[in-house]
Amino acid sequence: PAVSSPTPHVAVVAFPFSSHAAALLAFARALAAAAAPAGATLSFLSTAGSIAQLRGAASAELPGNLRFVEVPDGAGPSAAKGPVPVPVQRQMELFMAAAEAGGVKAGLEAARAAAGGARVSCVVGDAFVWSAVDAAAAAGAPWVPVWTAASCALLAHLRTDALRADVGDQAASKADELLVSHPGLGGYRVRDLPGGVVSGDFDYVISRLVHRMGQILPRAAAAVALNTFPGLDPPDVTAALAETLPNCLPLGPYHLLLPKDTAAAASPAVDDPHGCLAWLDAHPERSVAYVSFGTVASPRPDELRELAAGLESSGAPFLWSLREDSWPLLPAEFLARATAGGAGSGLVVPWAPQVAVLRHASVGAFVTHAGWASVLEGVSSGVPMACRPFFGDKRMNARSVASLWGVGAAFEGATMTRAGVAAAVGELLREEEGAMMRARAQELQGAVAAAFAPGGACRRDFDKFLEIVCRV
Ligand code: UDP
Repeated sequence: PAVSSPTPHVAVVAFPFSSHAAALLAFARALAAAAAPAGATLSFLSTAGSIAQLRGAASAELPGNLRFVEVPDGAGPSAAKGPVPVPVQRQMELFMAAAEAGGVKAGLEAARAAAGGARVSCVVGDAFVWSAVDAAAAAGAPWVPVWTAASCALLAHLRTDALRADVGDQAASKADELLVSHPGLGGYRVRDLPGGVVSGDFDYVISRLVHRMGQILPRAAAAVALNTFPGLDPPDVTAALAETLPNCLPLGPYHLLLPKDTAAAASPAVDDPHGCLAWLDAHPERSVAYVSFGTVASPRPDELRELAAGLESSGAPFLWSLREDSWPLLPAEFLARATAGGAGSGLVVPWAPQVAVLRHASVGAFVTHAGWASVLEGVSSGVPMACRPFFGDKRMNARSVASLWGVGAAFEGATMTRAGVAAAVGELLREEEGAMMRARAQELQGAVAAAFAPGGACRRDFDKFLEIVCRV
């Protein structure tokens, strides 16, 4: 009788916080679709809380060959029932400690059991969860980390020890110095480095985990997926990464890997409960400023009011995605006007279908916190940006946008004032400098389109990635 050959069972390990888990699930969906012809099964490992959230947000069914598998959150069964919610930072610490103490290993065993005993043949995962490397080794499977942020930030984490030795305790006095002695980082200043690399809290859970990740990746990864495309990173960044890491595969922007996300903006598949796209339809081409600071950052109340006043005084119609808990911080009259959403004024919504919004012809400027997914979504739609980075790797992204690629500007003094917002929006929408930024953004948009066309560089690298993770 014929012996059936083993099929791939790929475990995908999420970092179950902020936009990380949703981004990795989108990546896993793309992987599941592409690996289906090879008979592959995928297990998506995340915490119970994160899985519940992902299920709630998912607008489509999971593909038939992708299933959720729980890993411990480290909080224990009583946590959810406690009267005071556990702060996110503490949740992250508990999760990372549990992951290291066998949580990922237990997840892989659960995945195997749920797949009828099929051994896990490869462990793909958010690079943040570095402890997956030991669990993968114990299962006899390669570890293929997925880096979701910018290449320059990854370089900073890979070089943290060298950067700390170089900068020492002089981060403040050296803030404006370029990092010319660090390969690939010569275009960035000390002040642009992610928090926790040479300044800030080295003990913060994210500072510790990216430091450790930077030490482990070069020696333990079988390949590394990068959220970038050819033509975006300067050649020295690409070269420095290739020298440090095995099999760097630029596959980004990851949101384009999913076939449904390449659909037209007005496609009925776009989940748009607040009517953003219809509102945009009523505005002329490139007239609207879209404003969003991602899923975590919240401007201080005074800065929020400056932004509101600046948007109104810019005279441009604006679409602002702002979490509802911040609405009471805005002046009542402003909010009344902006939630009425009359033509010619603004519209404030708690959430917007950002990818489709940025693709909409009416959007001409993007005021952003410079989160990496947002920057890539802006670039791949050809929309110039005004950046207000708050924390983490966003300063570095803003530096790339404003100084390396010339597709936008960063707010003076890294804070938004009424006059600064009005000037930035006016520049992006109406002035010559803005037109040049748009032209450069459109060049990058063209490079993305070429990389994702059939046979394009990102498609080929995705095939290589698939080949590596589907080996049995
Ligand atoms: N996003 C969205 N609608 C919103 C706000 C955010 O779809 O109203 C999405 C956005 O498209 C992006 C992600 O949330 O994909 C935010 O990720 P990013 O890396 O920019 O920032 P983070 O939230 O991690 O700070």
